[in-house]
Amino acid sequence: MIPADMAQLKALEAWFVTGSQHLYGPETLKQVASDSQAIARALDGATAIPVRVVFKPVLTTPEAITALCQEANQSPQCVGLITWCHTFSPSKMWINGLRLLRKPVAHFHTQYNRDIPWSSIDMDFMNLNQAAHGDREHGFLMTRLRLDRKVVVGYWQDREVQRQLGAWCRAAAAWHDWQGARFARFGDNMREVAVTEGDKVAAQIRFGYSVNGYGVGDLVREVNAAPEADIDALVRDYEEAYRVAPSLRKSGSQRAALREAARIELGLRTFLEAGGFKGFTTTFEDLHGLAQLPGLAVQRLMAEGYGFAAEGDWKTAALVRAMKVMATGLEGGTSFMEDYTYHLDPRGMKVLGAHMLEICPSIAHGKPAVEVHPLGIGGKADPVRLVFNTPPGPGLNAAMIDLGNRFRLLVNTVRVVRADRPLPKLPVARAVWVPEPNLPVAAAAWIHAGGAHHTGFSQAVTADILEDFAAMTGIEFLLIDQATQLAAFRKELRWNEVYHALCSGWAS
Ligand code: MN
Repeated sequence: MIPADMAQLKALEAWFVTGSQHLYGPETLKQVASDSQAIARALDGATAIPVRVVFKPVLTTPEAITALCQEANQSPQCVGLITWCHTFSPSKMWINGLRLLRKPVAHFHTQYNRDIPWSSIDMDFMNLNQAAHGDREHGFLMTRLRLDRKVVVGYWQDREVQRQLGAWCRAAAAWHDWQGARFARFGDNMREVAVTEGDKVAAQIRFGYSVNGYGVGDLVREVNAAPEADIDALVRDYEEAYRVAPSLRKSGSQRAALREAARIELGLRTFLEAGGFKGFTTTFEDLHGLAQLPGLAVQRLMAEGYGFAAEGDWKTAALVRAMKVMATGLEGGTSFMEDYTYHLDPRGMKVLGAHMLEICPSIAHGKPAVEVHPLGIGGKADPVRLVFNTPPGPGLNAAMIDLGNRFRLLVNTVRVVRADRPLPKLPVARAVWVPEPNLPVAAAAWIHAGGAHHTGFSQAVTADILEDFAAMTGIEFLLIDQATQLAAFRKELRWNEVYHALCSGWAS
């Protein structure tokens, strides 16, 4: 259930669907089918596309289109449809099917023959290679239905075109993963905090996942039941995987703290597996019966693919899970993150991102260290945590916000940099980045947009994957990047208020 490698994404399918009609006669339709199969095969084999691409028979009647859309809805493997009109497919035939369709659509505007054969082109060639107008008819109808979909334009063997389709497939896989997903909250929200709150019923209607609370005592029972032999084995795993601090090693003065961290990991894992959860939240204000705030355990579970956020922030936990699915097989990690502290030197402003403990080691540069330090908040025993830096390079932060009448997905692209100097006294994992276009504009835009201090941070997921994801969930998407200008961004915020207030209901 938790994706660890590409094999799990390759069990999912995007269906390659070609529209046409009977007027062309059987010979042309045979050619259309054979060309479509060749394209589907090429996409299926493309390294940029992480799911299977499955050819479906060419659709020429309203009945066949409706049946295909119903079949897609029912299929547990199908994450969405890639549609294309090699020839002309009158789109009134598509209305009933598309009105029933509950899966995302990518409209692939391509042509089987890349080039116009200037010296030999005749009417037969023109009649077969009609996507230039067939896809416009197809596009009109989806726009008329207010069906938000991806449109990818270009030659099907082009790497950039395949990359864009791959990005959409990653978003569709994450959307698919959310349907019926369960997220557990141990305790409630951090008291009095606003941005981590939200409407869980609205989220389930919109996103398909459910969020439910559990008493921390239910978790403590599993933690206390962890067998000593399993704790021994897990501690040995830690010693192999990380640089363990001297006081935590065998016969070290704080060895018991490391064993306690292992006990918490075992109990947490048992609880999550038994409940079929894809992510969880904790809150340091409700740890009754746990010796430490879970740090190491949370970090390791996140690295395996669980969504997580602290302080009861279920929206971010679910977002981190979705980003983990999107990132499967890509280089670079994905973590729960928090904008923590600024470096406001005008010669190089940057953000230090971290959390009290819970940063995912998938973003670690080198082998993480296992350390134990006092927390200074929560009044519990010193928690064990992984400490590391994050490698330089491009990345992004994403936040999901509940605005009361809708959800907003806010993304800021960043450039991760090395810290100006080593941070020998900072006892937590951290990342240092320069937000795009720069810190003053990015932070002002983020704050005007109501962006949270908690984010999903990734060096694998790109902004276009998240934009596709927002489109398929039907929510607002805002991007702060190299091109952002604050005045224009603030207008976009105002216009979006009006747009989202007006547009609900237009589709029907
Ligand atoms: Mn926090």
